[in-house]
Amino acid sequence: MHDCIVIGGGAAGLGASLYAARFKLDTILIAPDMGGTGNIAHRVDNWIGDPGISGIELMQKFIKHVKEYEVPLINESVKKIEKIEGGFKLTTNKAEYEGKAVIYATGMKHRKLGIPGEEEFQGKGVSYCYTCDAHFFKDKVVGIVGGGDSAGLGTLLLSEIAEKVFVLYRGERLKAEPITTEQVYALEEKNVKVIHNVNVTEIIGDKTLTGVKLDNGESMELGGLFIEIGAEPVVELVKDLNINLNERKFIEVDKQMATNLEGFYAAGDVTTHSNLKQFITSAAEGSTAAQSVYKYLKSKK
Ligand SMILES: Cc1cc2nc3c(=O)[nH]c(=O)nc-3n(C[C@H](O)[C@H](O)[C@H](O)COP(=O)(O)OP(=O)(O)OC[C@H]3O[C@@H](n4cnc5c(N)ncnc54)[C@H](O)[C@@H]3O)c2cc1C
Repeated sequence: MHDCIVIGGGAAGLGASLYAARFKLDTILIAPDMGGTGNIAHRVDNWIGDPGISGIELMQKFIKHVKEYEVPLINESVKKIEKIEGGFKLTTNKAEYEGKAVIYATGMKHRKLGIPGEEEFQGKGVSYCYTCDAHFFKDKVVGIVGGGDSAGLGTLLLSEIAEKVFVLYRGERLKAEPITTEQVYALEEKNVKVIHNVNVTEIIGDKTLTGVKLDNGESMELGGLFIEIGAEPVVELVKDLNINLNERKFIEVDKQMATNLEGFYAAGDVTTHSNLKQFITSAAEGSTAAQSVYKYLKSKK
């Protein structure tokens, strides 16, 4: 039985593995892809000390660093987690593993529109993360799809950076927090225009995005498009373990990244811990979770 099994190969899982190894825990990391969502972040300007690094390069550095500590990085997908005497049994698509403690770091899935051009122009004008990418669109005309909190807050930020922001929303009235909603509508006197009752049907472009087609028959020229229609934490695997989730299905953790189930910790975008959902918060949560596993196992001896 391993001391610690980390599920997830993103910033949180890799951060957790590094710290777990430094705590001399017998640790393995399981994920189908090493690097996680970082692999699709085209330029990262907020990882302190390495401005402008590409997401993939940053993740390669994380992986190299973890490999220096000889943590086995197992390219498999976990299908089932069971509580067993003294720990947990994990079944993957290929094998079974047992661990005294688990760090669960499976991240989030950003909801997609599922329209033509979306995949093609992702990272080429289409973004799912305004916190990460807004500043690439300085003085451009951009669109933002959605009408909830993410779209609302994204609009407020983009209005300070872009020349003009079109909010493309399928509903009658924005449904972000009331104060955010009011602020967005107030900006219509400046550089924001909210277009209601509209769906984007196609993203068009050449090498990069140049515009969108709408279901009212119109086309718009745009220099960027933010799709902010929500993100879902990846929590399918914890359902049978009765792990506490909040109303948005993020895993409830305490300050030590512990869940309500003894020996089961969580880190990164999948948790309730930080609203920021960034590399720096995810890696930090991973490191805290590893320290908690170390303390937990020590207390068991
Ligand atoms: C387009 C984009 C650009 C971004 N740019 C930035 C940026 O510039 N700066 C910044 O700080 N943040 C950025 N972010 C946010 C950042 O990517 C996330 O905060 C970070 O990746 C979260 O790390 P994580 O480890 O929690 O999750 P993830 O990186 O999503 O990793 C989750 C891991 O879990 C694995 N997994 C899922 N299910 C299973 C399973 N059943 N079995 C095994 N493994 C599983 C996945 O394969 C993956 O390896 C960006 C996000 C996006 C979408």
